[in-house]
Amino acid sequence: MPKVRETVLEIDLRALTHNFNYLKSKLQPGIKFLAVVKAFAYGSDSVEIAKHLQKMDVDYFAVAYTKEGVVLRDAGITKPILVLHPQPINFKTIIERCLEPSLYSAKVLNEFVAVTEENAQTDYPVHIKFNTGLNRLGFWESDVDFIVPRLKETSAVKVKSIFSHLAASEDLKEADFTNQQIQRFNSIIDNFKTQIGYKPWVHMCNTSGIINYKNAHFDMVRSGIGLYGFGNSVKEDQNLKPIASLKSVISQIHNIEKGESVGYNRAYISNGFEKTATIPIGHADGITRVYGKKKGFVYINNQKAYIIGNVCMDMIMVNVTDIDCKEGDEVVIFDGTHRANEIAESAGTISYEILTAISQRVKREFIYE
Ligand SMILES: *Cc1c(COP(=O)(O)O)cnc(C)c1O
Repeated sequence: MPKVRETVLEIDLRALTHNFNYLKSKLQPGIKFLAVVKAFAYGSDSVEIAKHLQKMDVDYFAVAYTKEGVVLRDAGITKPILVLHPQPINFKTIIERCLEPSLYSAKVLNEFVAVTEENAQTDYPVHIKFNTGLNRLGFWESDVDFIVPRLKETSAVKVKSIFSHLAASEDLKEADFTNQQIQRFNSIIDNFKTQIGYKPWVHMCNTSGIINYKNAHFDMVRSGIGLYGFGNSVKEDQNLKPIASLKSVISQIHNIEKGESVGYNRAYISNGFEKTATIPIGHADGITRVYGKKKGFVYINNQKAYIIGNVCMDMIMVNVTDIDCKEGDEVVIFDGTHRANEIAESAGTISYEILTAISQRVKREFIYE
């Protein structure tokens, strides 16, 4: 890559290929792969990521909201798209754009059936979501006795899959809980299939589920963070390659005397003669204020420089007193070596959050095969 001249998020599609192949290698042949591309494909770019994965013959996509699915359809994505958290106000759009809703409550199920009937649909694919312990969205086990008779009353929809979501698949200390979720889901599956009289696909695992719970791969798995290069463990991080690198450049260097302050509210006071670098990335770009006051850091010429004072909307200032650097030098916030989870953990958060926080103001640049 040429040297960066402004703040950019580089997206390496070769790393995406690697991660996809690695995660697929964890599956028995025939198990389908759903790529989760919600939230701009975890802050990268949902269109470029989905196009690349579609070329690699991924089986399915999922987004959180209808709007995200519409963007993919507009960009020419033709694979099926599951909308994980649809709202009834968008049901007509869902049908118009051939998106497939997750139905997670009686209200949502009844409303979707009504809209498909009004629009003269038959066997419109839907996905029934069960709550097995996350207690976020989903029907309860006992709801099967209501759902199946309700579905049998109409020919407007047909259940393409039934699914559930693990609450703690990355945390092996919670293995008992996770196995209980899997067991509970297994009994839902049996009951559902017997009552409905056909065999919808079944899926449950997210990335850490793929890695840690081979007994729960069922017919399909749903991966997000793994595709983007994070395995939620030191071991799995070694097998995956972060696709996104956030880079910037030093705009200006200041030499300051002891007692001088840096930034808004004078939140940093110099301890002596010090050198600071100003970098064109701020909280409007996703580096939130929690990274300020020496929590977060960047790398300049491979050395760690802490953020001093408060993060501004468009800038941060870092301490480069002991770093040989000059205006125009490259700054790495995260990349394949200095992983995003490192800076995330400095502020008590996780890779998912810093990645999805990188705002649309930051230019995306792609590295193709
Ligand atoms: C976001 C999401 C996923 C992807 O989880 P990762 O941990 O990123 O692999 C899978 N399933 C559901 C229901 C989700 O909301």
